[in-house]
Amino acid sequence: MQTVDVVVIGAGPAGTVAASYLKKQGYSVTILEKEKFPRFQIGESLLPCCMEHLDESGLLEAVKPLNFQKKTGAAFMRGEKRCEFYFSEQYTKGWTWTWQVKRADFDNTLAEATRAKGVDVNFECEVLAVECGPEKQVIDYKDVDGDMHRIESRFIIDASGYGRVLPRLFDLSKPSAFSPRGAVFSHLEDKNRSEEASNNIFVHSFDDNKSWIWAIPFSDGSTSVGIVGDREKIIDLAANGGEKYKDFIRDFKDLNGRFKESQLIFEPRHILGYSVGVKKMSGEGFVLSGNSTEFLDPIFSSGVTFATASGLLSAKMTHRHLQGEVVDWTKDYEEVVQGGIDVFRSYVNGWYTGDFQTIVFAKTIDEDIKNQICSVLAGYVWDQSNPFVKKHDTILPTLAKVIQMKERAEA
Ligand SMILES: Cc1cc2nc3c(=O)[nH]c(=O)nc-3n(C[C@H](O)[C@H](O)[C@H](O)COP(=O)(O)OP(=O)(O)OC[C@H]3O[C@@H](n4cnc5c(N)ncnc54)[C@H](O)[C@@H]3O)c2cc1C
Repeated sequence: MQTVDVVVIGAGPAGTVAASYLKKQGYSVTILEKEKFPRFQIGESLLPCCMEHLDESGLLEAVKPLNFQKKTGAAFMRGEKRCEFYFSEQYTKGWTWTWQVKRADFDNTLAEATRAKGVDVNFECEVLAVECGPEKQVIDYKDVDGDMHRIESRFIIDASGYGRVLPRLFDLSKPSAFSPRGAVFSHLEDKNRSEEASNNIFVHSFDDNKSWIWAIPFSDGSTSVGIVGDREKIIDLAANGGEKYKDFIRDFKDLNGRFKESQLIFEPRHILGYSVGVKKMSGEGFVLSGNSTEFLDPIFSSGVTFATASGLLSAKMTHRHLQGEVVDWTKDYEEVVQGGIDVFRSYVNGWYTGDFQTIVFAKTIDEDIKNQICSVLAGYVWDQSNPFVKKHDTILPTLAKVIQMKERAEA
């Protein structure tokens, strides 16, 4: 039987960032990944903050040569209304740009770069059972031929994303408070898009803020286009090979015919009920990171940034633990990760109540306020000097109310 210091479950962004960091500290690390890479994954628009995590784990340089589409901001639209955020104007000092990525290429590059650092990366190995203890963790997995194997480690990082291996095995999941929503999406040809549409993610709100469309441009001239809405709406749009999705994308008036003549690169896919929480993020012999913890909603493209942030922090805590330090996992890990998630939770709530739109589509928006919101949209949700982080749970509804009163008085 093989014995290593750390087993990481999953080779998505959370897993590869965690594994690369730990390898750098001198540990033996094995990744077990269910799929064969490259594989499709949703989650294509990154946030500037994740560049810091890729850099610190030693993975950023491997991604640069892929020449992914540079993303310098985000544009929100609703009918005639429009608001653009540019990361170069954000309040927090940090990265001013990031990438829009096809995850098949991005994740495969991260996995290969992680392997090149000496991590044992095993594809088509599905973790089926885990037994945790104070000193030793036992992991059973199935390889591509269906043969079972066992590996032991001192510690486990569960970065299995939507697979949620340990939350499932240890009954750690808890339902999300958000309404059950879904998304239907594809990649479309988009060769004639404007420069602005190339540099930014476009987000169109409609249906009284209940539904929205993303357009995420790639460097090869294609664009990812997805519709998010309540469960029934998405099931309807995705039925019969996504017939209604195709019609909607071609005819939706706020897209101004952008995809009228576009060919789809693959048949529309859909995903339902992705919002889920977790009862705790660590336990004896293991820690959860990335989507294995909590996933809120795709609206602010925060998923990969949370994966890299929590992947990196989980690796740092694991390092301390393996050095014999008594780690306060609740305070030093869970509360930090949860703190960031809770900031985004307020913004996701604000999006679906319409408070966020009231603020960004106001007749005038104070530049300081806009730049502070911009830092949240760039993923800098741990900067407590930013009032839009610190007072995240009250500031959006309060500001929206003030704007509504002012605009009513002026009308
Ligand atoms: C509709 C939608 C749109 C989104 N858009 C964005 C976006 O624009 N930007 C963004 O940042 N995020 C977005 N997200 C979120 C994003 O998809 C995730 O947050 C992100 O992929 C999480 O990364 P991860 O490393 O935690 O997990 P993943 O990327 O899911 O990787 C986990 C890996 O674990 C493997 N695995 C699973 N089970 C097992 C097992 N039993 N054994 C071994 N391996 C296993 C999987 O095969 C997978 O490769 C979106 C989500 C949805 C639902």
